[in-house]
Amino acid sequence: MADEVVEASPERVVAVVEQMAGLPWPDGDDWLEWEIDGLAGQTSFLMHVLPLGATSDAAALASLTSPLRRLADQRWGARHRFDATRFTDDADTDPASYDRRSAPAGLVRAIGSDTAAWWRSGKDAVVLIDNSAATPETSKAAVLVLPAQWLSGPGAEEQALRSPLVADFLSGDKDRILPALWAVFKTRDPEVLAPLARALPAIEKATADAELGGMLASNDSHLEHALARIELFGKGVCLCAAYLSHQFYDPGKEEHRGHVRIVETIPDARQWVPDRVCECRDCGKRFQVEQGEYHYTWWKWTEVALR
Ligand SMILES: [Zn+2]
Repeated sequence: MADEVVEASPERVVAVVEQMAGLPWPDGDDWLEWEIDGLAGQTSFLMHVLPLGATSDAAALASLTSPLRRLADQRWGARHRFDATRFTDDADTDPASYDRRSAPAGLVRAIGSDTAAWWRSGKDAVVLIDNSAATPETSKAAVLVLPAQWLSGPGAEEQALRSPLVADFLSGDKDRILPALWAVFKTRDPEVLAPLARALPAIEKATADAELGGMLASNDSHLEHALARIELFGKGVCLCAAYLSHQFYDPGKEEHRGHVRIVETIPDARQWVPDRVCECRDCGKRFQVEQGEYHYTWWKWTEVALR
C-alpha cells in the first residue's frame, strides 16, 4: 500500500472488523489473503490484519482513524493501551521466559508505532495501530484482530501454577503432596508461599479428596493445617499464628529456622522437659511451649502476654 488510504467509512471498517474474527487461519507460516466487503487484508498464524493506509497525508489518514476510534469506543467499550516498547523478546529469547506479547508488539513496531489502542471483543482483541499523529510524513494505520490472550501477560494464577510446590499439591500423588505440605510447615519464605497463596483455590479443589493415610496422626489433618498456613500468609497474618493450631511445631527447630528465639525455660511439673518461652522474630509475640509425649512428641503453644 503506497501513499493511499482505504476508501471506506469508519462504519464500514467496523462492520468488516466484526467479520474478521471469523476468518480462517493459515497452515504454518503462510499468510492468507482475504477480502471482505471490498477491504483487503492478510492473516498470519497470529492475527488478521486490515491495512487502513500508508501515506504522507496524515490528515487524510486521521480523518478515518479518529472517527473509527470513537466508533470502536461505542462498539466495544473500554479502550486499552498496548505499549509495544515493553515487549521485545525474539527468536533468541529463552522460550521459558518469552513474553507472548512480543509477537503483536513486533508488528505494532513494524508499522511504525510504539503504542496501539485496543478493545476487547469477546475472546478477541481489536487493535488499532495509527501513527498519523507521531510520524505525519510516513503515516500508517492498520487494524488487527487476534485472540486477546496475546495482549495480556501471564496471569498471576498462571505464573503460580508454574511453581514446583504448587505442581506437587495439584499432582494428586500422595508421594508428592506429603513432602510439599511438610515444606509449607517449615517455611515463612514469601517466595515460596506467595505462589501457593495465589493458587490456593486450585490446591483446595485438587486435594479435597486426597487419601494421604498416616500412622499416628492423620496426614489429612496435616494437609488441612498446611492449607490454613498458606491462607494465613495470604491474609498477611504473621505465621506464628499457626503455632496455636498444630502440635508438631518443635521450638528447637523453629529457632533453628530463624522463626523464633527461645528466651526462657520454665520448669513444668507435668512434663519431663521444661516449657520454653519463644519470641516470634517477625512480630515479637511470645508463646509458652509445653512439650509432651503421646505416641509421638507434641508441643502445645500458648500465647503469653508481654511483660
Ligand atoms: Zn509472629
